[in-house]
Amino acid sequence: MEIITTIAAMQQYSKQKAREGKSIGVVPTMGCLHDGHIALVKTAKKLADCVIVTLFVNPTQFGPNEDFTRYPRDFESDRIKCEANGAEVLFAPNAAEMYQPGSSTWVVEEELSQGLCGRSRPGHFRGVTTVVAKLFNATLPDVAVFGQKDAQQALVIRRMTENLNFPVRIVIAPIVREADGMAMSSRNRYLSEDERSRAAVISASLRHAAQELHHSALPESAEVLEQVKTSLLAAGGRIDYVELCDADNLAPASSASKRLLLAIAVFFGKTRLIDNVIIELGEKVR
Ligand code: AMP
Repeated sequence: MEIITTIAAMQQYSKQKAREGKSIGVVPTMGCLHDGHIALVKTAKKLADCVIVTLFVNPTQFGPNEDFTRYPRDFESDRIKCEANGAEVLFAPNAAEMYQPGSSTWVVEEELSQGLCGRSRPGHFRGVTTVVAKLFNATLPDVAVFGQKDAQQALVIRRMTENLNFPVRIVIAPIVREADGMAMSSRNRYLSEDERSRAAVISASLRHAAQELHHSALPESAEVLEQVKTSLLAAGGRIDYVELCDADNLAPASSASKRLLLAIAVFFGKTRLIDNVIIELGEKVR
């Protein structure tokens, strides 16, 4: 596996692979890799000849009071995991390489970014879309794999890719969970043992609510959302949001929705955790 740290060398690598007729898959990450990330690498391996994992803790997507400086970093462990799972390249630029002095250009998606995490993390998606556009321009991929764990992020990136005509196929891979259902996340390591066990309520309440919503009519959803909030509060969570929206466009859930997204952001201690579930409504009469 090659480790590449400059944009020029990364572009050169990708152009050479393209000349050889090889397709490129990219998996953007902020490192501290866990099995959720590795599942994305495995998906990318199935879809492309060469897989590039990008490792960059992007400062522009963190708010001033967020966890940028203490975000977990473990380059050596990430390198070993990428190599063991067949990545061809680990692209690990530093912040000075990604953001040249005087950078003043941003990529902004103005619709899907507004609600959910966008509401409580102003500027977050501007940082995400900007860095992903830059990573696409550095790695020149045919396909990029993102996780359903960050449901809103995946939709925002798909919209950006379509709107700006990046020739990149966006694939969204399912959420990988711990044995007790907790969604894997680099931020889980911030949790104390007690917080971690209480936080299992997030996935449990999502699972329960998804079953209820599948069997109930939309007008009854307010009651189901209240149940979720009650469970989160009972476990000591501080709720940022619990929302039910259309899974395809993040608009409020309506009788026109074919799939619903039930999304949660909740703090346990100082750690903000997100998780979600998709409810397929199919031909159900509502
Ligand atoms: P991050 O390093 O947290 O920025 O995540 C990098 C990519 O991995 C994003 O596309 C995430 O959605 C995805 N990801 C993170 N956790 C999981 C998980 N538990 N299951 C699936 N994908 C995940």
